[in-house]
Amino acid sequence: MKNYLRGALDVGGSYWRIAALVPAGGAGLSTLLLFINIVLGLLPVLFILATSVMIGRVPGAVSDGVGSAEWRDLVAAFMAAAAAFVGQQILSPFQASLGELLARRVDGHVYQRLIGASLRSTGIGPLEDQKLLDELTQVVTTLEQSFRTAGLACAGLLALVARYTQLVACAAVVALVFSPFAALAIFAATMVFRKGNRGGLRQYSRLFARNVAMRRESRYYRALAIQPAAGKEIRVFGLADWLSDRYRTLQLGLLSLIWAERRRIYMKPYLAYTAFGFAMAGITLALLGRAAAAGTITLTQLALALQAGIAALRLGEAFPESDTPTQFGMFAYDGVQRFEAGVDAFDEKTTQLEPRLEPAGMPRTELRFEDVDFHYPGSERPVLDGLNLVLPAGRCTAIVGLNGAGKTTLVKLLARLYEPTGGRILADSSDVRHFAVDDWRRQIGIIFQDFNRYELTAAENVGFGAVEIAGDRDRLRAAARRAGILSTLDRLPSGLETPLARQYKGGSELSGGQWQRVAIARALFALENGASILVLDEPTAALDVRAEAAFFERFQDVTRGATALLISHRFSSVRHADNIVVLAGGKVIEQGSHDDLLATNGRYAELFRLQAERFTDEEETEPVDEADLAGDDVPAGEEPTGARPVGYAGEAPAGEAVR
Ligand code: ADP
Repeated sequence: MKNYLRGALDVGGSYWRIAALVPAGGAGLSTLLLFINIVLGLLPVLFILATSVMIGRVPGAVSDGVGSAEWRDLVAAFMAAAAAFVGQQILSPFQASLGELLARRVDGHVYQRLIGASLRSTGIGPLEDQKLLDELTQVVTTLEQSFRTAGLACAGLLALVARYTQLVACAAVVALVFSPFAALAIFAATMVFRKGNRGGLRQYSRLFARNVAMRRESRYYRALAIQPAAGKEIRVFGLADWLSDRYRTLQLGLLSLIWAERRRIYMKPYLAYTAFGFAMAGITLALLGRAAAAGTITLTQLALALQAGIAALRLGEAFPESDTPTQFGMFAYDGVQRFEAGVDAFDEKTTQLEPRLEPAGMPRTELRFEDVDFHYPGSERPVLDGLNLVLPAGRCTAIVGLNGAGKTTLVKLLARLYEPTGGRILADSSDVRHFAVDDWRRQIGIIFQDFNRYELTAAENVGFGAVEIAGDRDRLRAAARRAGILSTLDRLPSGLETPLARQYKGGSELSGGQWQRVAIARALFALENGASILVLDEPTAALDVRAEAAFFERFQDVTRGATALLISHRFSSVRHADNIVVLAGGKVIEQGSHDDLLATNGRYAELFRLQAERFTDEEETEPVDEADLAGDDVPAGEEPTGARPVGYAGEAPAGEAVR
């Protein structure tokens, strides 16, 4: 019995959590909506009461005539019934629109929590974790579509109050005017119907949660079919039929699961619930009929019990305004909670050691990776395996290795976007975990391989390297100049104030190479604010060879004595480094200067020669922006269209064997 009630009311699970979320819509609004829903639950019962009294007074009014006491009672009951009816008509739109308002407010709150959780995460782990990413995508999709959101669940829960108020009041009426047993039987029958509907919906929704992966895949195919980026290849390789077949097969698979589950959940129990419900309702109605025939109840009582009983039984149906939103809306909220918990779990791994030290100006002697192990969460495969590496302060260390060797991972560990799973990272013999994460990151200017292209002004794009001094135009311009992008930015329609996105008013789009130099400027701007470590992960991948050569010729000026870590697949740039480190199998397998490593004739020499053999004078990169190399004025975005730059035929092999 207890479990039955739990199933019908769903008190064991989501309702309480939804109720806890309701106040996020505002205490005043929630209270008002609760009040409106209680009134909306009572008004139909008032209507039943009034019309039953009316029916009961009809014989008396007919016999006593207009103006008699019975007549006046009948008119008063009619007025009350009319008031209850009109009241319902007036309040229902309020219920709907205030429910909508509450839903939007709660959804706003949920959005804020989601963004807050995402941004407060110290590391990048939660945003790279596939399971948490799924949660995030799922929640954001519901919010963007305003479909099955947590806010709608809250409004739905309050709407449910109206239904249950009505049910309890109807049962009370039956108990008072006829028999508590009949009231109980009607209540039980209604709850059995509810159990069938509500419980079925709950089981059905579990299927929805189970096939997340299929729905994700299906969404992906849909996106492939309609997004312009994928459109080119799909046409050129003739993938359209394959894509539509694949989508159709997947979608049919998904639907057949749903159909099968629907039959299992709804069809069979439906028969059992219906039989029980009808039995209960039948017994009650039979008792009522017998009492009426025996004359043990009045006409008013009979009308009341009949109307209230039937109204109560009708409440056994599914409530579209509350059942679906409360059941599915909570998935979205569960997703938010799991994402928050995931962020917290990741952050717990970000250790802060005491005493807390101040990293300003560090490293003065060296950065050291000491026996560092690392594997990504959810994977046992070590990416770094007892890595020992020293980066001398004020020097440039280059890291090479095959794709997947762990070079970018090493950068993530240095920036404390992940914590090593073993070993430690030291700055001048202090474990970096003694520094507050934010303080430590202020020591680092970084250009990631997949750097951000902010759809904001050029000044903001550079200024984000050190937001504290972003207003200092002289230093900002100095960083842009050293990155070789200043003249390009000055030539934009509004100079540094130009939004770097064509879709914005007065905006301009930069080429890939220009964007890369903006990102370099951003990293260099961090140096202007006192950062002492410069990390360049493929800083010139989108530059053509001449621009790259120019960049590295000025490398000393560019880095300004920072402790630099350079990752590049081009030996032409790597060879400028003071020290070259070859990474393989999660370890350093060779290190030394370019000449030393060639002389050693090991892996570096092998890879270097491999690249050299493959070298052609065709670079797949962008044409050089002559203005920034020569200081001339060439408008941004207007790329030279003439002859491609001459291949950089010196000792700079190109190719992808090493990066
Ligand atoms: P590199 O920069 O040398 O090409 P990465 O550091 O990017 O290599 O990657 C090293 C290994 O770690 C690769 O096998 C890659 O698949 C894996 N890896 C990278 N990022 C993640 C991640 N977020 N989750 C799980 N594995 C990852």
